[in-house]
Amino acid sequence: MKFLVIVDSLKEGLKISDMELLGFFEEQGLEVSAFAVGEEPENFEENKPFNLKHFFFHQDLSFYNPRAYGEILKTYLEKEKVDIVLSTATLKTKDYFPWLSAQLEAPFLSDIKKLEWEEGTIKVLKALYAGKLFGSFEIKTSEQCPAFFLVQANQFKGSWRKGGKASVFECSLPENPIRYEGFKEPKQQNQDLSEAKIIVSGGRGMMNGENFKILEELAEALGGLVGASRAVTDAGWQPYRRQVGQTGKTVSAELYIACGISGAIQHLAGMQSSRIIVVINKDPEAPFFKKCSYGIVGDLFEIMPRLTKAIRSQ
Ligand code: FAD
Repeated sequence: MKFLVIVDSLKEGLKISDMELLGFFEEQGLEVSAFAVGEEPENFEENKPFNLKHFFFHQDLSFYNPRAYGEILKTYLEKEKVDIVLSTATLKTKDYFPWLSAQLEAPFLSDIKKLEWEEGTIKVLKALYAGKLFGSFEIKTSEQCPAFFLVQANQFKGSWRKGGKASVFECSLPENPIRYEGFKEPKQQNQDLSEAKIIVSGGRGMMNGENFKILEELAEALGGLVGASRAVTDAGWQPYRRQVGQTGKTVSAELYIACGISGAIQHLAGMQSSRIIVVINKDPEAPFFKKCSYGIVGDLFEIMPRLTKAIRSQ
């Protein structure tokens, strides 16, 4: 069985979650290679993963272009024969993977939790209904096309090595109907939640956007980032890029602190694989308490400043 991991290349570098996915398969002694697409990252030579076989970098890919990404991958997969194509689920891959698999008339499954294989068959465990159910699926491998899978960030973790030899994949930038016009820099720093080890998230219980300062302070003291529920982003209290959940970011933090969030299934779908989950809610019946490692029943406006003070004094 030949595995190919598609790694996302951003100016700031290749993503750790992609490298760990690659490492996971390498550690099991499997034939795994990687293809990187996007813009050329900084310090690429020193930091490239050992298994990177080919890459295609172009300045026009600094801004995500679904058709260009899809066409480049399609050309690549027509030349490189593999059985399984994997990638971490990001806003980009969730967008172009379905298009790509449809173009190649290949099977595609997302939200993969577990993957097993034996000659001719791939067995997967996949989240359904935003993580409320899990379904087992079997896919017959085909010589005509690979099977495509998107895994949730940080689900498959392995250690990865740097170095190795990788060469440019020779292909021209495909013509497509989407033209890049320009990019407007967001005012706030755009740190990626899906890579964060510590997240302090706020929900409707925060009452307004101003009050998120309380969470910013705790996040800063812990060296983490601030996240939010959809109720918050819908109300415009926080930008959409901070939303965690089914229609927001999928995160898998070492520590996830949820303040004033009820724990709706759509929110849990984006964070339930976090290692330690702390819930602060004044309602003892809040569903989130059933999913947490530690729960504090009380008013977040009393608890959070005390927590921040205690952490700063450590
Ligand atoms: P609420 O459910 O209103 O909960 C607020 C909580 O704050 C309550 O439990 C309350 O007890 C507590 N509280 C209030 N005041 C205090 C206080 N002073 N101290 C402590 N606790 C307090 N949601 C997401 O988050 N992410 C998604 O990606 C997402 N995608 C969705 C996709 C679909 C198709 C649908 C239908 C819904 C989606 N939702 C998503 C919405 C989701 O169903 C919930 O409506 C949402 O998560 C609720 O947000 P919340 O917990 O902040 O608000």
